[in-house]
Amino acid sequence: MRLILLGPPGAGKGTQAKFIVDRHAIPQLSTGDMLRAAIAAETKIGLRAKKLMDAGKLVSDDVVIGIVSERIDQEDCSKGFILDGFPRTLQQADALGDMFEEKGLKLDCVVELQVDDDALVERIAGRFTCSNCGEGYHDKFKAPKNPESCDRCGSSEFTRRADDNEETMRTRLRAYYKETAPLVGYYYAKGQLKGVDGMGSISKISADVEDVLRKL
Ligand code: AMP
Repeated sequence: MRLILLGPPGAGKGTQAKFIVDRHAIPQLSTGDMLRAAIAAETKIGLRAKKLMDAGKLVSDDVVIGIVSERIDQEDCSKGFILDGFPRTLQQADALGDMFEEKGLKLDCVVELQVDDDALVERIAGRFTCSNCGEGYHDKFKAPKNPESCDRCGSSEFTRRADDNEETMRTRLRAYYKETAPLVGYYYAKGQLKGVDGMGSISKISADVEDVLRKL
């Protein structure tokens, strides 16, 4: 199964992708995670991307198209994958279409998580992850049972993203509406778009996403 998760920053794409990974045993390909890994490894791409990401701006199409194309050729993607945070522009969507055609792959569905703007800033401003296993948390909606340690692996190290602050969030939202929101119409016109209400509880949203996937 090959899926795209579409929605503004803070819509819950990463959270829902992790549930799909567990249920369907296909990897989550997050361009944001790949770029953050490139920054941590201080690669050329990482160094170029850092400034833009810290400012909440999009990294160039060529860079992300290149990393996605390489990533989907890897063995663990042979049974499918979930694209999280890609495509983010019409040019990326066209490039993805060409890539699928060249590689003989089929896109099964685009799941759009629909969320109110006001909720997004609140969701983003409170989120953090375990530095060891990557489990996601939120100050208000999903705090660890013991505030000092990760529920999953017990690590006491947590990370907050540099771009998860209110000011950068506003730039990221603007980038979403300008560059990414047109993809809703793009995939709707192709008959591939499925909208899911992203405003309920994490488990309800996850059940609704699963419902969509079951019917594919
Ligand atoms: P995310 O983790 O998806 O919220 O992405 C964090 C940041 O990485 C974004 O604000 C962009 O600067 C950059 N980024 C991630 N994916 C893309 C993409 N497909 N195109 C351009 N920039 C991206």
